[in-house]
Parts: sequence; C-alpha cells; structure tokens
Amino acid sequence: SVVKRIEEAEENLGAYLALDLEAAFAAARAADDRIKTGNALGVLDGIPVAIKDNLCQAGKETTCASRILQGYVPPYTATAVQKLMDQGALILGRTNMDEFAMGSSTENSAVKPTKNPWDPRLVPGGSSGGSAAAVAAGEAIAALGSDTGGSIRQPAAFCGVTGLKPTYGLVSRYGLVAFASSFDQIGPLTKDAEDCALMLSAMAGFDPLDSTSVRGTPVDYTQELDRELTGRTIGLPREYFGEGVDTEVGRIVMAAVAQLEDLGARVVEISLKMTEYALPVYYLISSAEASSNLGRYDGIRYGRAAAGREDLAAYYTRTRAEGFGPEVKRRIMLGTYALSAGYYEAYYQKAQQVRTLICREFAEAFRVVDAIVTPTSPTLPFRLGERLTDPLAMYMSDVCTVPVNIAGLPALSIPCGFARGLPVGLQIIGRPFAETTILNIAHQYQ
Ligand code: GLN
Repeated sequence: SVVKRIEEAEENLGAYLALDLEAAFAAARAADDRIKTGNALGVLDGIPVAIKDNLCQAGKETTCASRILQGYVPPYTATAVQKLMDQGALILGRTNMDEFAMGSSTENSAVKPTKNPWDPRLVPGGSSGGSAAAVAAGEAIAALGSDTGGSIRQPAAFCGVTGLKPTYGLVSRYGLVAFASSFDQIGPLTKDAEDCALMLSAMAGFDPLDSTSVRGTPVDYTQELDRELTGRTIGLPREYFGEGVDTEVGRIVMAAVAQLEDLGARVVEISLKMTEYALPVYYLISSAEASSNLGRYDGIRYGRAAAGREDLAAYYTRTRAEGFGPEVKRRIMLGTYALSAGYYEAYYQKAQQVRTLICREFAEAFRVVDAIVTPTSPTLPFRLGERLTDPLAMYMSDVCTVPVNIAGLPALSIPCGFARGLPVGLQIIGRPFAETTILNIAHQYQ
C-alpha cells in the first residue's frame, strides 16, 4: 500500500529524488518469508523506510540535492542506515532536501521543490522536507532526516508527523554528509512517538567510526512510553510565546499544554533569556563549520567535474561556481568571513562564548523541569516562493528549534492540532540523553 501511495501521490508531491522499488519488493518478499518462519531480523523487518539524500548508501547516488555531487556514488553505508537494514528495514528510496541541508522549505534543492501534502501551494518545511512529506502522504512508514538547526522537527510540524532530533552524540554521524558537525544529528520521522522510539532503539549507540559518538549501554526507548505524566514537571519558556508567533499557533500549542496538565503533568512558566541570541549564534557557527566542511568539494574527489582542467585554481572556481546553489554560496561566504583573521574574535569566538551561556541556561532550567515545551515553528507552513528571496525571513523559521542544537539536547515535534486547516507542531525538549522522557510525554499526549 506504500507503493500504491507512491504511484498515486508522488508525481504531484515530489518527495523522492530516487526510488528503489525493485530492490524494496525483493527485500519485502525475503522479509515475509523470514517473518512467516519465525526468523524476523528485528522489529523493523519488512518496514519500508525512506532516507534523506545526505545519508550515504553504498552503491546509491548520494547528492544532497546539489549539482556538485551529481554522480557521486559512495562506497559505504551510513551507520544509522546500516543499523536499520540490520533490523530488516527496506530502503524505498532517497528523499528530497534543501541543498546540503541548508534551508527551511526544501526549495533550495537543486532538483525540484517538494509540495506540502496538506496543500500543494505550500512548502513542506525543510531541510528534511522530502522525508516529512513522504511519511505524511503514506509514501513511507518512516523516514530518516538530519537536524542541524531544526531540519527534522520543523518539516515534521509543517507536514503533521512526528520527528525526533536525538541528543548530540547518540546516533552515529558516520556516513552523514557533514553540514555543521557540532550540530548535526540523524533522527527519525514517523507517524507517532512509538514508531520514533522503535526507530531510535535501532539506530542509537556507540560507533567507533564517529569520534563524537557517545559510549553507553543500549536503551529500549519504548520502555517508558506508557508511564503516567503525574510527577513530571514541564516548563513553558515565555520567550517562545511572544512576538513573531502566529496567534493561532500559540493558541493551539497552549491547548496542548492544558491537555498535558489534564494528564497529570505540572506546568510551570520559566524564562530562557538567551533565546534572542540563538539565531545569530547558530548562523555564525553553522556557517563557519559549513565553510570548512564544504571545502572538500573541489571537483576532483567527489561528484561532478567541470569541463577543462588547464589551470587548477580556475578549475576549482568553475566547479564550485557551477556546482553550488545561491544559499550554499551565501553560507560559505558568511562562514569564511566569520573565521578570517581580524574578524574571528568578534564573530566566531564571540558566538562560541554565547553558545556556552545558552547551554548553561538550559542546564539551569532542567534543574527544575523535566521537559520544556514550545511551538516547533512560530508560523504555519508558508507558500512556495514566499520566503525564497528573503533569507532572513527563511532563517526566522528556526527560532524555536536552533537553541536545542546549540545545546546538543534531544527534542521532538508532534502534531498537536490544526489552525486554518494546517497542522501545528508541539516541540518537547529534554535533558541530555532523556529521550525516554520526551517520548513518554509525546506518547501520553498522542
Ligand atoms: N534551516 C536551518 C538552516 O538552514 C536548519 C537546517 C538543518 O537543520 N539542516 O541552517
């Protein structure tokens, strides 16, 4: 039936960049046989999953929706993807995204925009817009995305699905094409919190191939789903409900908060005063890291090559000028500027200092609350093209999600109602490695 949905909806939706249905069918038949004989590989055996196009899959073209990686076929598979396959998951195909995961609408894809399944005139959010749209439209049971500043949670909110960004270090980044390495995490997009918990249980864990991956004993993230909310304290940071938040979105989120209270949680108002600095800190540090990470695309080592190799410097310049889109170039220039001699102290170093203050403020808040609840996005899904010529308006889509990446915390977005016929997302933020807690709150709400 997932395949039927792909046949019905994909042409208008544009969630996928590449489909692998032949292989998926063969794998599905094998899974069927295993399940029938009681030899299932794991809970994900036979489950059709879509993969964001910045996750390497051996033998499959991996482009990050960029011209510069056209034709790049990695020789290895990302650990997170491999772990799903080890549990029997079928990889259906690769999903559309903003080029190199830079964006909030999937319109920065060099290939095509993806439509919002609720209204084709609207964006699905981004940068994991293809993954979110695929799950929302029934074109996959679950999908993987990556979240550097909100790219799992914001499209999950816009498409009315559940999306989880794990604690930094919980899921191996090996095989994820790097954008901003100190923020990037891989996570699941699914219909509900229970499916997220199953996916995370399969993906999480130490990986010697990622030096920032954290050691720890395997956790079953479904274990606390059924716990009652009595005894949990939830913080509502007033800075996330002020100016810039659509009043309808605010109203729906507050109704969800009231429901959490009915379920037994204690809700307290808190203040996170550093919130206003999160966006500049994020765009400075993430662009600095991106400018360094994207230095490797020189037309020689990966993907597409420009014609003519007479002069090396000219060759690099031509490859990069032709291969990167405008948003990627903007980030590279911003990041290179912030890192250059004379400006480093004023921008990059200052941003790192403020980053520390933001981390401390969250740590302080988590001394009194078990979770923090906010809107995922300050607005409803916007129109295709509406913010494309205004980068700052596009960056504003992330005000509620970037602080979480700055502090490396886990957070998820769940659908919490509709405003003007469109889905609204509720963000639940937890203490480091407290995924079981936020999944519990999400599941009790759902
Ligand atoms: N929209 C943010 C950006 O453009 C977040 C992207 C992401 O999480 N990958 O940087």
